[in-house]
Amino acid sequence: MISAAIYVRISSDSTGEGLGVARQEADCRALAERLGWTVAEVYRDNDISAYSGRTRPDYERLLAAVDAGTVRGLIAWHPDRLHRSPKELERFIDLAERTGLQIQTCQSGAVDLSSPSGRMVARMLGATARYESEHKAARIRRKLAENAAAGKPHGGHRPYGWEVDRLTIRESEAAVLRDAARRVLAGEPLRSILRDLNARGLHNASGKPWTHPTFRNVLLHARHAGLREYNGQEMGQAAWPAIIPPETWRAVRRILTNPERVTTPGRAGRLHLLSGIARCGVCGSPLRVGHSRATEAYRCTASACVSRRRDRLEEYVEAVVIARLSRPDAAALLTPEDDGGERERAVQAAELVRQRLDDAAASFASGIITARQLATITGQLRPELATLEAAAAPPPDRAGVLGELVSAGDVAAAWEALSPDARRTVVRLLLEITVARGRRGPGFSTEGITLTWR
Ligand SMILES: [Zn+2]
Repeated sequence: MISAAIYVRISSDSTGEGLGVARQEADCRALAERLGWTVAEVYRDNDISAYSGRTRPDYERLLAAVDAGTVRGLIAWHPDRLHRSPKELERFIDLAERTGLQIQTCQSGAVDLSSPSGRMVARMLGATARYESEHKAARIRRKLAENAAAGKPHGGHRPYGWEVDRLTIRESEAAVLRDAARRVLAGEPLRSILRDLNARGLHNASGKPWTHPTFRNVLLHARHAGLREYNGQEMGQAAWPAIIPPETWRAVRRILTNPERVTTPGRAGRLHLLSGIARCGVCGSPLRVGHSRATEAYRCTASACVSRRRDRLEEYVEAVVIARLSRPDAAALLTPEDDGGERERAVQAAELVRQRLDDAAASFASGIITARQLATITGQLRPELATLEAAAAPPPDRAGVLGELVSAGDVAAAWEALSPDARRTVVRLLLEITVARGRRGPGFSTEGITLTWR
């Protein structure tokens, strides 16, 4: 027989049904009986005003009993009854590991703190529990009032796009975020977008001009998609609305975190027209400009598979783009092809995979599957999810990128007037470019260059 302790706690957010101490204790006793554990003692804390992280007397007594070895099993109603902060969780993990304490909860089953994956799940659940409180809004308001009374700033800085309560959208900033997402999807580099924002006086949440890292971090925030996130993992729907639709935000994230993305300007202080856009026809790597003898040339970044003179290749591509946009039927380029509902199906399939990942994590947390089974499942589902998310990405805003060019009387002149970044965006949107080995010898040859309309 395992000598067990029950731990119950009233906390400030426990006005919800079934969270009263008596109910918690009854549920825990029932669980002890099912497990065949003997309840040695019930530890109770009243934590009503415990924002300040004040000590909980019975919790401390409980830890001492565990440490002394008089308690071998612990039952709580939910893991969030045990720990109020990641710091407390870490202390608890240390103790559980040292003493081999067995932990069971009424709401999420066994808590396995003996393996790295078990601890990861506990940390994830801990983070989720803290967010999932139905009374989040009330808690935040009370916290804000407390902070204000104590003269503290409002829980760190206000996230860009949101009011101080972190739940209400600030429309003026949300519009900036939506526009930025649209431009990233169209292929515009971040530094070009933030240069534009700074020039228009649209600064960050502290009223300072944007820098590249801060702007990138803001766009990578899952909160804008109405999603909760913990350590870079999506944790499901949040209590607040979305500024950017989730599929759009995921597409932005994929672009911004793509290691192949070329963001470093070349020697001339800007990116060349086709850097990172044109690809090697031999190995598929992106091309960048390097120097071969006296001339600049696009070359394969992986190895020296292919090389083409920079000026000639750019002239060729520009001529093709301008010719296409000058045709009478160019307006057709503005509307993306109908995909027959393919994207919508990918959106739904991706959602199902996310649910299966959640289910797997929950099954693991309640001891239904092992860490190895969980690893197998996630190992299969993660790549599947990545593929589906790519297919679920919304199409770039073609009219926004091409509209002016298509409606211009003189397309060549309009092209000349575009910024280098804007030209890259147009090329990226219109063409897939691969450069294979051409004929040997001097001069420029279009042999081996494949331009495919997107
Ligand atoms: Zn190559």
